[in-house]
Amino acid sequence: MGRITGPVCRLCRRDGLKLFLKGSRCDTPKCALERRATPPGMVQKRRSKATDYGLRLREKQKVKHYYGVLERQFRTYFARAVRGKGNTGETLMSLLERRLDNVVHRLGFAMSRAAARQMVMHGHITINGRRVDVPSYLVKAGDLVRVKNRKKSLQLVHGALAEFRRDVPDFLSRGDGAVPEARVDRLPAAEDVSIPVQANLIIELCSK
Ligand code: SF4
Repeated sequence: MGRITGPVCRLCRRDGLKLFLKGSRCDTPKCALERRATPPGMVQKRRSKATDYGLRLREKQKVKHYYGVLERQFRTYFARAVRGKGNTGETLMSLLERRLDNVVHRLGFAMSRAAARQMVMHGHITINGRRVDVPSYLVKAGDLVRVKNRKKSLQLVHGALAEFRRDVPDFLSRGDGAVPEARVDRLPAAEDVSIPVQANLIIELCSK
């Protein structure tokens, strides 16, 4: 019988959704969502029905936890999405997907977004040949995301790739060279977003 394994797993359990917040553990049967949370026969506590506000808030919190952004930062993305030309929800999700820590994680260079954030902050990643240590850097079409060619950086990334080699999303193409790198082919679109989310609910909430 499994037990809730910590605060991050509680977030997944609350949303009933795998948010992939614990690195490689999330892909194993040890994932708290994959295991039984209650012993057979035990009556599960019923959760009261969420209000419309509650549902919208939950969608927003889910996205914030998933990408690891705080409220202020989230508001900045929202304001930028509102100013954008296209669908506000899609623009918002595209901005979040473009974060460098997200891209590093989705390329398999780091096991979780938290690990990817640290990797970026410690200078292990370059963009177009220049070191970028800002996890919120937004990648652009044509950018070359490359691991720094030094022993420690390569060890870290090769270790993650060996354990966590996922398919990369369509907007990125990962190279097979000795130094891991990838090209951003285009900006991420709605179908590239790695989390099931009702962005319209978030927009309704934030627009008030
Ligand atoms: Fe925990 Fe990861 Fe499973 Fe979520 S996906 S419940 S963070 S192990």
